[in-house]
Amino acid sequence: MNQEINKNKKNILIVDDTPANLRLLSTILTKNGYQVEALKGGQMAIDALKASRPDLILLDIMMPDIDGYEVCQKLKANPQTCEIPVIFLSALNETVDKVRAFEVGGVDYIGKPFNLQEVLIRVKNQLALHSAKAEIQLLNQELEKRVQDRTSELEATNAELKKEIARREQYQKQLLEKAFHDDLTKLPNRALFREKLARAMKLSQQKGNYSFAVLFLDCDRFKIINDSLGHTIGDKLLIEVANRLKSCLRPEDTIARLGGDEFTILIENSIASEDATKVAKRINSELSLPFYLEENEVFINASIGIVLNTQDYDTPETILRDADTAMYRAKAEGKGRFMVFEPHMHVSAQKTLEIETDLRRAIARQEFLVHYQPLICLHTGKLEGFEALVRWLHPSKGIIAPGDFIPVAEESGSIVPLGMWVLQQACYQLRTWQKQYLNSNLHISVNLSVKQFSQPNLIEQIDEILRKINLDSRCLTLEITESAIVDNAETATKILEALKSRQIKLSMDDFGTGYSSLSYLHNFPIDTLKIDRSFIGRVDNKGQNMEIVRAIATLANHLGMRTVAEGVETGKQLERVKAMGCNFAQGYLFSKPLESKSAGVFLEKFTKKSLFLPQKKIIRSPLLYS
Ligand code: C2E
Ligand code: CA
Ligand code: CA
Repeated sequence: MNQEINKNKKNILIVDDTPANLRLLSTILTKNGYQVEALKGGQMAIDALKASRPDLILLDIMMPDIDGYEVCQKLKANPQTCEIPVIFLSALNETVDKVRAFEVGGVDYIGKPFNLQEVLIRVKNQLALHSAKAEIQLLNQELEKRVQDRTSELEATNAELKKEIARREQYQKQLLEKAFHDDLTKLPNRALFREKLARAMKLSQQKGNYSFAVLFLDCDRFKIINDSLGHTIGDKLLIEVANRLKSCLRPEDTIARLGGDEFTILIENSIASEDATKVAKRINSELSLPFYLEENEVFINASIGIVLNTQDYDTPETILRDADTAMYRAKAEGKGRFMVFEPHMHVSAQKTLEIETDLRRAIARQEFLVHYQPLICLHTGKLEGFEALVRWLHPSKGIIAPGDFIPVAEESGSIVPLGMWVLQQACYQLRTWQKQYLNSNLHISVNLSVKQFSQPNLIEQIDEILRKINLDSRCLTLEITESAIVDNAETATKILEALKSRQIKLSMDDFGTGYSSLSYLHNFPIDTLKIDRSFIGRVDNKGQNMEIVRAIATLANHLGMRTVAEGVETGKQLERVKAMGCNFAQGYLFSKPLESKSAGVFLEKFTKKSLFLPQKKIIRSPLLYS
């Protein structure tokens, strides 16, 4: 309790060389509740203040060892003691000394002899003032600390905010990047390409010496690679293709991936037209080198369409449309090529669209008919059977050849019902002839498109037709192309086996124009190879084509397959294909495809009798039937 009081008591140090003064002041101050220490000299005070910290010092000025001024100066110079208020005591009453007292750091001045009331009041005032100052200082410190805390809080928030803004900016950049780039290849996408194209169009209107060209590129056979090697390798291939394409361009050219295996390229400079074809050539030769992907050696080509006269266009879309059209033309010409767009291509693209629309109606209106082209056995010279070839009897355009509508029907899917109609028609016709001419060996070949080949109910439909018509399945040959097998690698074997188990014969059409090798095809149950017309057409002038035909015929015979020479037009060709070991032939030399009635006449004449005359190596007036 006592200590508590002592703690709250203010400590006052009195320094005076006059003992009476010390006593008097000590007594009065102690009486008034202060804790007092009294010292007799300046040096003693300086020493004592090293250890203790009084709340107030009453300091005599005139002392024998060190005077009050000097003591005060020392105290003020020391940061430990500088805050202690000093009240000077002195008998001297001159103004000069008072001024000095304040100059050295005193806060007040009490003259001797003391008026005790005055001493008490001044002491009390100074103490109050000092604690008020201390309190203010404390408050200030606290305030400062609070400000500091708040500032650092604000700074931290600010830093967080900055980080958040940066994060959002980054995210926005990523979004923008995503919106305008392709995820897989990191190339610009259709949207960005369109924008660049629009910009290029604007520039070419403004600047005379500026021009640009657009390339539209589509990989050939990509689907096959994707289906056979899997999507992971397909993706890797696309990345590699993108890299090779980039290597064919200058940094200022733009290349984009439109989607799937389609890429577009924008070439901008004063000689863009010249450069575009050079770039296309470079791309074709660069892509012809094999790709190595996870131990697979992969080959891929691309078909390229080019638009050069870009100043004729109003919108990016029409440029892309025409580049796409030219690309399709390049693809149709045989893969791995490029083609520059010409306006007539657009007309033909429009025609295709018209055909597509008309086709749908044509099936419903039954505007089709089937022609039959004789197939001749080269050993006997007799008719073996017919190939059924569809014709379109268009109400306004007349007869349309299958080459002009089958690809469209294939693309749009109408080939499926159409193909089935042809099959049914041909089987029915054959059955009729068989009965009419009592020839149950007579054969019919029907073309089966790639699309039809991938129909899940194909076999049931064929079964149904054969059953309804009561036709022996051994009399039916289905002609398929290599792509039917290659494009449907997974299901092909199953379908072919199913057909085989019904003893339906299988013929590989247009052989030699595709990609697959004989050894590959040997894995499938194929009976006949139809050697493509393009080889037969040129066997006249010996050379390479003749050797190819001979090689195909020899190999096919070894593998137990038979061969048909397609498109035999001259006696010389006939002689050659016979000599090279082909088993059958088909062509204008014997007859063009005939409508059913004429085919019937041909049939009547040449099932029993050979077309070949015994001695001379020419045939009986065949053109009679064309
Ligand atoms: P393809 O299967 O190769 O049929 C043979 C084509 O060659 C026929 O053309 C035929 O008229 C023609 N040709 C036959 N001999 C000669 C000749 O000596 N010289 C010349 N220059 N040509 C000859 P066509 O009838 O115009 O048929 C063209 C293609 O259309 C066919 O080629 C076939 O791929 C397709 N096609 C025809 N009918 C059908 C069908 O019913 N279904 C399917 N999917 N495709 C069909
Ligand atoms: Ca055919
Ligand atoms: Ca053919």
